[in-house]
Amino acid sequence: MQQMLKSRDVQQDYEPMNLKLPPSKEPSKAKQLLAILSLDEKITLLSGQDEFCIPGIERVGLKPVWTSDATLGLRGWNAPVTDFPASIAMAASWNESLLTQVGECIGSECRALGIGVLLGPGVNLARVPVAGRNFEYFGEDPLLAGKMAGAYIKGVQTHPVITTVKHFACNNSEYDRHKSNSVVDERTLRELYLPAFKYALDAGSLGVMTSYNQVNGIYASEHAYLLEGILRGEWQFDGLVISDWNSLYSTDGVLSSGVDLEMPGGKYLKREKVVDAISKGVVTEEAIDRKVLHLFTAYERAGLFDCPLADPALKVGNDKHRETALQVAQEGVVLLKNKDAALPLGPSLKLCIGGENAFRVAQGGGSSMIQWVTPPKTFASLMEDKATSLPRHWYRSASYRRNVASSDAVILVVGFNHIEESEAYDRPWEMDRATLRSIEHATKLNKRTILVVQSGGALHLTTFADKASAILWTSYLGSATAEALYDILFGNVSPSAKLPFSIASSLLDYRSMRNYPKDYAAFSLARIQKGQGDPNIRQVSPSDYTENLMVGYRQFDSEGPDPLYCFGHGLSYAAFSYDNMMVVEQEEGNYLVSFSLANISDVSGAEVVQLYIHPLTAKIYRPKQELKGFKKVYLNAGETATIEFSVSPEDFSRWDIDTWRFVSDDGPYEIRIGSSSRDIRLHQAVKYKERKP
Ligand code: BGC
Repeated sequence: MQQMLKSRDVQQDYEPMNLKLPPSKEPSKAKQLLAILSLDEKITLLSGQDEFCIPGIERVGLKPVWTSDATLGLRGWNAPVTDFPASIAMAASWNESLLTQVGECIGSECRALGIGVLLGPGVNLARVPVAGRNFEYFGEDPLLAGKMAGAYIKGVQTHPVITTVKHFACNNSEYDRHKSNSVVDERTLRELYLPAFKYALDAGSLGVMTSYNQVNGIYASEHAYLLEGILRGEWQFDGLVISDWNSLYSTDGVLSSGVDLEMPGGKYLKREKVVDAISKGVVTEEAIDRKVLHLFTAYERAGLFDCPLADPALKVGNDKHRETALQVAQEGVVLLKNKDAALPLGPSLKLCIGGENAFRVAQGGGSSMIQWVTPPKTFASLMEDKATSLPRHWYRSASYRRNVASSDAVILVVGFNHIEESEAYDRPWEMDRATLRSIEHATKLNKRTILVVQSGGALHLTTFADKASAILWTSYLGSATAEALYDILFGNVSPSAKLPFSIASSLLDYRSMRNYPKDYAAFSLARIQKGQGDPNIRQVSPSDYTENLMVGYRQFDSEGPDPLYCFGHGLSYAAFSYDNMMVVEQEEGNYLVSFSLANISDVSGAEVVQLYIHPLTAKIYRPKQELKGFKKVYLNAGETATIEFSVSPEDFSRWDIDTWRFVSDDGPYEIRIGSSSRDIRLHQAVKYKERKP
C-alpha cells in the first residue's frame, strides 16, 4: 500500500531547463517543443517513471519533473517537511485566506524539494460519512469544498508548481474503488459533484487527476463525456489530465478520449500498445500531440520551462510554515458542545488524560500519510507534568477509577488513525469497544469529561453526546496537534471552526447509506489487492446515488431527520449577535446583503457567517436551502463590524434537464444569514425575476 512507501532522497536540481528550440515565430514554447519531437519521443511522455516522475527528453533539454502527494504535506521524502492538518480540518476553518497561506507554504516546500507537480488537492464530497478518504477532502458542500480548494490552489501556484485537483469524478467511496460504478443522474452531477472541480479550475489549477471508479458505466480515466465533453469542451480546460495510480483499464479508450498521462508507469500507454493502436487507426498522431501539448501547456503556464525545478533559498519545515500549520490546526477544531462552560479549562486543575490518540499523533493513512523525520510531540507528552495519564483499559483498575472520579476534569482524545481511516477501504461508523467503554466509564465517574474526537468525518457520537460535558471534533492536525489542542482546551485561542459536514444521530439517517454495501468497513489485504487493478477478476458493482441531491444538510433540512450536529455548527468562547440586515437590489437580479455582526462577549474570537438561499416557491423539487456564501470574521471583545455579501443570479440557479444548462427560476427566495445551517439569525425575502439569456 502507498503508506509503506520508502522515503526518497531529495534530488534538487538548481539548473533551469535549457530547451533546445530552433528559432520560431510561434510564441508558445509548448507548441515549439512539441513541433521538434519525434513520435517515439512523444509516446514516452504519455506515461510516468520511477513511481512519481514524469520523464524528460534529454535531446531537447526537457528535464524529468517530479510529482508528490499532497494532503497532509509532502509525502515520501527524506526531509523534515511541514505536516499540515488534513483537508477536512482545513475546511472546518472556513478560512479562505488561511488556505491560500497554506498553499503558499506547500508550494514553497515543493520548490525546496524540486517538485513540479503536486498531487492534490482532493475535492470529492462527503456523500457517505464512512468513506475512507473524507479526511482528504473538504466536506459535504460543493461551494465550501470548491472555495477552500480554490484558495489553496491559488497559494500553491504562486510558485512554479502545478496542482492536480482530484479525483475527477464521483469518487465518493473507497469501498472496492476499482470496481465501483457511481451511478448518478445529470442534475445531481451538475449541482453536487462537479462544481468543486469547476471552482478549482477557475482558481487556476493547471492539472486534474481522474479517479479509479466508473461513472455511469465508464471508467473516469477514459470518460469521453466528462473529460472531452465537460472538462475540455464546456469548461475549456487545456491543462494536464493525469491518471490516478494504476487506474487505467484499456489502451484504446484512453487514447481516444482519456487522460494525457498514465501514472505511475506505462501499462496501457506503453510504447508497443500505443504504436499498435496507431497502426490499427484507433488513434492518430494528432491525438497524441494534443495529450503532450496539454502537459507542456501546464509546464509553460507554471513556469517550469524557465526556472530551475528546485530553489536552494527555500527550506521545508521552516518556522513560518510550522506557524501556519499551527494556525490551521487551531482553526480546525470544532467545539460541538460546551455544557456549563466546561471549557476552557483553568490553570492548576487536577486532570486525567486518556484515549489512544492522546499518546500518538494520529494521521489518516494511504498516499497522504507523512513519514516523520522526527516524530512530533503527542498531547499526553505535552501534558506530562500537568495530568495523570490513563492507560487503554484504565477502567479495569480501582486506583485509576478513583483518580478519574477525584479529578477536576478528564480529557479523552479518541477517534481513528491511519489504520482505520485510509484510502482503499472505508472506515467504521463507531470507535472501537475499548474506547467506547473508556468514555462510558469516564462520563459516569466524572461530570466534567471532555471528549476530543478525531476522524475524517461524521461518526457515531449519539450514545455519549448527552453524557460528556464538552465535545470537540477535530480531524488529523499534523505535528501541531498537541499544541493546537492545548491552546483550545485552555482558552489561549477561542474555537472558531464549524462543521463542514453533518453528524447524524444514526448511520442509516443518511439516505446515501441506505443502499450502501453492508460490509462497508470490512477490509483485508487480499480484498484490497483484488480490488486494486485488474477489472476482470470480479464484476464492477453499481453504487447507486439514489438519494440524488439529498446529501448532508440538503437532506436533513429538506426531509429530516434532525441531525445530532448540523452542517456549519461550531461553538465559540465568545458570543456574537447579528443585526440590521439590509438587502438592496443593485442591478437586475444582483443584491447587496449587509448586516452588523457584534462580538458581545469579553473574549476575542472569530465567527463564520453563512449565507443560505431558500426557494420560497420552487417550480421543481429543490433542497430546502443551499450555502451560497460564507466569511470568517475576527472580532475583538466588544467589537462590531458590517458584513457584506453579493448575491447574483447564479446563486439562485439549478440545473435544468430540459435545456441542459443552469437556470435561475423566478423567485421569491429567502436570503438567510446564519451562524450554522440550523441557527439562522436573519432572513429577508427577495422577489428575483429570471433574466432572459
Ligand atoms: C491515490 C492518489 C495519489 C496516488 C499517488 C493513489 O493511490 O489515490 O490520490 O495521488 O496514489 O500516491
